[in-house]
Amino acid sequence: MDLQSGRFYWDTTFIDPPEYPSLAEDIQCDVLIIGAGSSGAQVAYDLKDTGLNVVVIDQYKAGMGSTRTNTALVQYLGDKMTYELVNSFGEEAAMMHTTLCRDAINHIEKASKKMRINPDFRRRDTLYRASTVEDIEKLKKDFHFLSTYKFDADLITQKKIEKHYPFTAPAAIYSKNDADLNPFKHNHGLLDLAHEAGVRVYEQTEISGKKINADRCTYYTKSGFVIEAKHVVVAAGYESLTFQKNKNAVLESSYCIVTSPVDDLSDWYRETLIWETARPYVYMRTTVDGRILVGGLDETTPYPDRRDSMLLSKRDNLVKEFNKLFPDISIEAEYYYGAFFGGTHDGLPILYEHKDSPHHLFLLAYGDNGLVYSNVLSSIVKEKLTGGKHEAEDLYSRSPAAIRS
Ligand SMILES: Cc1cc2nc3c(=O)[nH]c(=O)nc-3n(C[C@H](O)[C@H](O)[C@H](O)COP(=O)(O)OP(=O)(O)OC[C@H]3O[C@@H](n4cnc5c(N)ncnc54)[C@H](O)[C@@H]3O)c2cc1C
Repeated sequence: MDLQSGRFYWDTTFIDPPEYPSLAEDIQCDVLIIGAGSSGAQVAYDLKDTGLNVVVIDQYKAGMGSTRTNTALVQYLGDKMTYELVNSFGEEAAMMHTTLCRDAINHIEKASKKMRINPDFRRRDTLYRASTVEDIEKLKKDFHFLSTYKFDADLITQKKIEKHYPFTAPAAIYSKNDADLNPFKHNHGLLDLAHEAGVRVYEQTEISGKKINADRCTYYTKSGFVIEAKHVVVAAGYESLTFQKNKNAVLESSYCIVTSPVDDLSDWYRETLIWETARPYVYMRTTVDGRILVGGLDETTPYPDRRDSMLLSKRDNLVKEFNKLFPDISIEAEYYYGAFFGGTHDGLPILYEHKDSPHHLFLLAYGDNGLVYSNVLSSIVKEKLTGGKHEAEDLYSRSPAAIRS
């Protein structure tokens, strides 16, 4: 799948990451993880101390899938507004999801502190601004649930927004304890710790076929070797859909710019993460080296040619969108790219089994908070593979569409 194109940023910040061999022998394991992006790396990290014999493979180099273009805002509120999740799933389930996402940020922070590769994790507040006056009501509905469940968030007025920022908005939710990080370093930080604990990692190991029996799965690699596994976790990102279609998943195109370092960010209150209620939305963050990252202006096309034909105009429009909010910060888009972005129709990520693929778990951390979703889903994978049952297993394994596909 042609996932992305343009001038990429994150891998330029870490030009000498750990390298792992390609598979050069037949092997057996308890758990085979397909995909060494942020989802596969998270599962490997979570399984490293379970006593299970774990193998991770990737067709390319680790972290060079969608993880490479992740803008890595680490937030607990997602594409679907909280009140919409409540309408779809009920209050208990929707707030369980939101709480798990908030807790996942703590888990990401804890793991980040243990890493030998610093993932540049930083706690950040978020400004979630109403794009129109009509959207104030939407924020009010969301704030009702956030305050009832004691999330550290405020509904703030236009006046307060204008006090702190050089732009205005009719209202906003200002929430605390989100975060940002460097997704490429984070990916390698997780894998490095998993590898150190005994997880075997093979890069540039492409699969050419498989056979699934009642008690085990056999995968064949293009270079002629065999992997026998009791369980398989498919964490192949948006390419998981080539293993197993899922009618709840939807692929679109998204765009992003990363600027040259900016001298003065003092106009940007606390370097908050900023996004909005419009769909598609424009969002922005800063980086540890003083750059600004602006993303959004999504298009519904799942075709790479169409996506790429709009890249230069999207780059220029993202600069303009930024300057509508921060007219006094002059920016230059040093890096810019277009990428496929996967979401789900109902707004929740998916972890499911399929009748045609026994012993397989499909982990689709789809949606704007892929890092947080990977973390939540990975904790469920760990429970399932060690004989436990996670409280949210049924919530994420819904998807009758998947069973029918
Ligand atoms: C433009 C953009 C902005 C985003 N912004 C955010 C954000 O701000 N915050 C956030 O949390 N998330 C964000 N996301 C989502 C985030 O990038 C994804 O959720 C995350 O990268 C998914 O990681 P993954 O490991 O599931 O997929 P990937 O990183 O794509 O990893 C999958 C891996 O599987 C490998 N693979 C695929 N098929 C095979 C096969 N057959 N055999 C072997 N290996 C295989 C691939 O090579 C790849 O390395 C964004 C995504 C995009 C595109």
